[in-house]
Amino acid sequence: MRVPMIAGNWKMNTTLSEAIELVNEMRKELGEIDGVEKVICPPFISLAAVKELIKGSSIRLGAQNLYFEAEGAYTGEISPLMLADLCEFVIIGHSERRQYFNETGEIVNRKLRAALNVGLKPILCIGESLEERESGRTEEVVTQQLWSSLAGIDNLGGLIIAYEPVWAIGTGKAATGKQVNETIGIISLNIAQLYDKVIAQNMRVLYGGSVTADNIAEFVQQREIDGALVGGASLKADQFLSIVKQTSEIKH
Ligand code: PEP
Repeated sequence: MRVPMIAGNWKMNTTLSEAIELVNEMRKELGEIDGVEKVICPPFISLAAVKELIKGSSIRLGAQNLYFEAEGAYTGEISPLMLADLCEFVIIGHSERRQYFNETGEIVNRKLRAALNVGLKPILCIGESLEERESGRTEEVVTQQLWSSLAGIDNLGGLIIAYEPVWAIGTGKAATGKQVNETIGIISLNIAQLYDKVIAQNMRVLYGGSVTADNIAEFVQQREIDGALVGGASLKADQFLSIVKQTSEIKH
């Protein structure tokens, strides 16, 4: 049985006091929803404070990025060990990092290895651009991203995959359940080829891209979709709570 998950990616939003306020707004109700793993991923600067706020609750914590080196002269970077102390999950390979920070498949691979080495559970993001979809290259792109990200990695630990078509992120144009299912089929086939069928069957795959309280049901009603990585709507306590509640009810 794959446990459903809803993860909130706050991106570069919220000051420390705003992060504390947002957690306080949803902490009690969110902590009481069962049957779904609830993860929030605030900016680095708020991780320690949020960790204290959610102590003893069922809400889990994740980071949005890491650097692959263990320590040293890398001004401004955050190492895997620093995060392992603070949180359980880390988003790796988000399309915004691939697009604005030139993260290649090789860098994503190094970050995944670094995260797994310290026991962090990576949420690996993959997905095609609009141009790639329109030219019929979705399968090729997703396959290539998976093989380069996972090259040489034998043990996937608690890795989760988030299928996030780039054209659906922050655009208000979510994919359809059918489109997501088709791509999850491709992801599963590749994981079975790279590892084995059991690993593929047990691998959690989330959908990400303009998920809101109004459309989450369409996704989580599909057996193959294990939940969502939510950006914009995770910054509104009522939206995020509703997304998690609906997932819990539908997946029960
Ligand atoms: C994301 O940041 O991973 C994301 C899916 O964003 P949004 O929900 O805002 O499209």
